[in-house]
Amino acid sequence: MDGKEVARLIRAEVAASVNQMSVRPALATVLVGDDPASATYVLSKRRAISDAGIVDAHRHVSQDHNQGSVAAIIDELVLDDSVTGILLQLPLPDHLDSASLINRIPPHKDVDGLTEANAGRLLLGQHGLAPCTPAGVLALLDHYDIDLFGAEVVVIGRSNLVGRPLGQLLLRRHATVTMCHSRTRDLPRLCRRADVLITAAGVPGLVTASAVKVGATVIDVGINRTEHGLCGDVAFGEVMPRVHAITPVPGGVGPMTIAMLLRNTVTAAHESIRV
Ligand code: NAD
Repeated sequence: MDGKEVARLIRAEVAASVNQMSVRPALATVLVGDDPASATYVLSKRRAISDAGIVDAHRHVSQDHNQGSVAAIIDELVLDDSVTGILLQLPLPDHLDSASLINRIPPHKDVDGLTEANAGRLLLGQHGLAPCTPAGVLALLDHYDIDLFGAEVVVIGRSNLVGRPLGQLLLRRHATVTMCHSRTRDLPRLCRRADVLITAAGVPGLVTASAVKVGATVIDVGINRTEHGLCGDVAFGEVMPRVHAITPVPGGVGPMTIAMLLRNTVTAAHESIRV
C-alpha cells in the first residue's frame, strides 16, 4: 500500500476544497523549545499547510517559557477568530504539563484530535476530530477497499496517540477488534487470527512471518531508527510474500498522518465558521 501516493491524492483534494472556501483556514502549529526531531516534524507540517493553501500561523516559543506563558499563547490563539486550528507539537519540555495545555484548545480547533473532549466523542461514537495517525490508517484501508465490516482486526499498542483511538475508529466501522500491548500473553497467537493486523508498538522485528495469517492485510505504524535506517515493527521481507497487502516504512502510514492533519484542518475551519 503506497501511503505516499494516497497522501498525495488527499492533499490535492484538500487543496481543491481550500480553494473553494471564502475564508482561508489558518493553522497555528505551536513549537516549544528546540528539540531537533520536533522542529523537523513541524517544518514538514508547515510546508504541507502552505502547499494546501492554508495560512501558516506558526508560533515558536523558547524552551524557558513556563506553564502560564505557554497557556497564555494558546489562549490568545483560541480567541483569535482568524486561527481555525491549533496544534501543540509533542513532546513538550519536561517542565510543562502537556495534558492541561492540550485541553485549553477547544474541540473545534483541535486538529490533532487529542483533547479530552474529542477523545470522549470518539469513545461515544459522536462527531468530532479524530487523531491524525489513526485516521490515516483508516483512510489507507478505505483507499485499498479493505473490508472492515465484521473483520478480525488486531491492534498492537494502546497509546492515546495511536492504538487506543484506532481501536475506537475500527469499532465504529464494525470490525471485531482485539487490542494487544506490552503485557499481552502470546502475541503471535492473537496476531495469527487477524484479517487486518495493525502494529503501533515501536519495536523493530516485533511481527514476524509466523505471526501473520496468509492473505492478511498488515499496517505498520511503527517508526524505528536503527543503524540501517528507518524501519517499522514488521519484518517486512519475510512477511510480504504471505500477505494480501502491506505498508512499507517509510512511505506507508507516515505520509498519511500529515494528509489527515490537512483534512482535519479543513473540517475544523468549517466547524469554526459554525461555532
Ligand atoms: P507508545 O510508546 O506511546 O506506545 C507503544 C505501545 O506499544 C504501548 O501501548 C505498548 O504497550 C505497546 N508495546 C510496546 N512493546 C510491545 C511489545 N513488545 N509487544 C506488544 N506491545 C508492545 O508509542 P506511540 O506513540 O503509540 O507510537 C508507536 C509507534 O508508532 C512508534 O514507533 C512511533 O514512532 C510510531 N508512530 C508513527 C506515526 C506515523 O505517522 N507513522 C505517528 C505516531 C507514532
